[in-house]
Amino acid sequence: MPDNVAAAKAALAHLDIEQNENAIKSKSRDFFWYSPVLKARMDHLVADFVVSPRNEAEVIEVLRICYAHDVPVTTRGAGTGNYGQAMPMRGGCVMHLRHMTGVKEIAPGRVICEPGILLKDLDAACKADSGQEIRMFSSTWATATIGGFIAGGSGGVGSCTWGSLRDLGNIIRLRVVTMEEEPRVLEFRGEELARVSHAYGTNGIITEIEMPLAPAYDWVEMFVACEDFMDAARFAEELANEDGILIKLASVYEAPAPFDYFQRLKGHVTDKDTVIGLMVAPHSMDGFETFLGRRPQARVIYRSDDNDWARGPGPVFEYGWNHTTLRALKVDPSITYLQVRYGFPEHLNLVEKMRDEFSPEVLQHLEVLRENGKVMFAGLSLVKFTTEARLDEIVRIHEEAGAMIFNPHRYTLEEGGRQTVDDRQLAFKREADPKGLLNPGKMIAWDDPDFDFSEMYAYPKMTAAE
Ligand code: FAD
Repeated sequence: MPDNVAAAKAALAHLDIEQNENAIKSKSRDFFWYSPVLKARMDHLVADFVVSPRNEAEVIEVLRICYAHDVPVTTRGAGTGNYGQAMPMRGGCVMHLRHMTGVKEIAPGRVICEPGILLKDLDAACKADSGQEIRMFSSTWATATIGGFIAGGSGGVGSCTWGSLRDLGNIIRLRVVTMEEEPRVLEFRGEELARVSHAYGTNGIITEIEMPLAPAYDWVEMFVACEDFMDAARFAEELANEDGILIKLASVYEAPAPFDYFQRLKGHVTDKDTVIGLMVAPHSMDGFETFLGRRPQARVIYRSDDNDWARGPGPVFEYGWNHTTLRALKVDPSITYLQVRYGFPEHLNLVEKMRDEFSPEVLQHLEVLRENGKVMFAGLSLVKFTTEARLDEIVRIHEEAGAMIFNPHRYTLEEGGRQTVDDRQLAFKREADPKGLLNPGKMIAWDDPDFDFSEMYAYPKMTAAE
């Protein structure tokens, strides 16, 4: 361990420091291995030490000491991100927020909490307090933290109704600690939220969060099967456009993915069935059944409140969003994925075009998403991986067709996003992390302002594999 890192670790010895080598290794990793491209480049990364602060005062202490010793700090919620976001590119300190799980206040329509609470525990607290729930959560609800969702995620279950995290109103307030000689504590609302939300912890550490809430329901979870893929895509889109029917999830899985990859659905679908996963509010079920009755091409194969399945499928949302990829990977390790934006009003045409071009090498997995009041699709397409060159070609063909790709085979904010520099995040990093020690290697604009995106960015200071 370099001397400066050893000195920082010694100065923090009174805090909760992980001693177990295997635990240090596992807390230096996330779900980067979903990508064969990232797996080949990041597998060796490991922190020099892991510290778990118990409160904001201890976060400030970690940042102050690491600043004084020039030690990089990579923050960890639960490490369920897919882009290597929580992985320490230059070693140093991983700051794990697992102790910061407090719920401070629940009021009508909002909750104030610490960042390290799991999404499921936050939901449970809001439901027990006043029959409320968070509007949207990543499908890693059971394992991910609210802080990691805001700093690393984008949206998920609930986004068909509420839009994405970046949409106005979906985060109310963030409290943020800077990494300076004397760290500052700042409060952000409105325009300022964009500085640190989805910034991978590169320019400030979120220590308190205020989120909006909605009434909680015992959602009726369903699987619906259609023999025609486009019928299924239209079904999901039209359901989301039914203004009086409240839904929390509408996912579409192209055949034969449900038959091949969803083990619990095996006896209930054929390899011709495209399946739609749904969460519908109980009071909307009458409306839903009328909607369904008008579409004889669709058949309900499972509903959580009424079924005779010997083994239930578990939560339907754990088949959606990036859980689809996980289920496919478990059966076929050569599967990886792409994140596609099929924007309104061309979404259905684009989906059809990409399917004609690539199926079955690329199978469609769609998530209904609301953006600026319009229903469209996020695609988390399942890709049969062969080579990096072919993957790049698939990306290029999507982009040329007008289907924007958020590339999950890159570890930087820019390449995993819209390939543009976020000036607000960069400007705040200059102010809040002048030494560039927070999650280094993840913001190209900081390291190489002239980078032109013609090839994959390779962070020059990444710790080398031994
Ligand atoms: P981590 O992975 O620990 O961290 C994510 C990023 O945030 C890192 O860069 C980290 O440094 C930073 N960070 C964490 N906490 C803080 C903090 N307090 N302050 C500043 N920076 C911080 N994502 C979605 O958006 N929607 C989905 O539906 C979805 N589904 C998924 C399904 C599967 C099976 C998997 C493996 C991943 C999925 N993801 C999804 C990605 C990921 O699970 C989510 O983004 C998740 O919410 C991240 O939470 P985490 O606690 O694991 O964060």
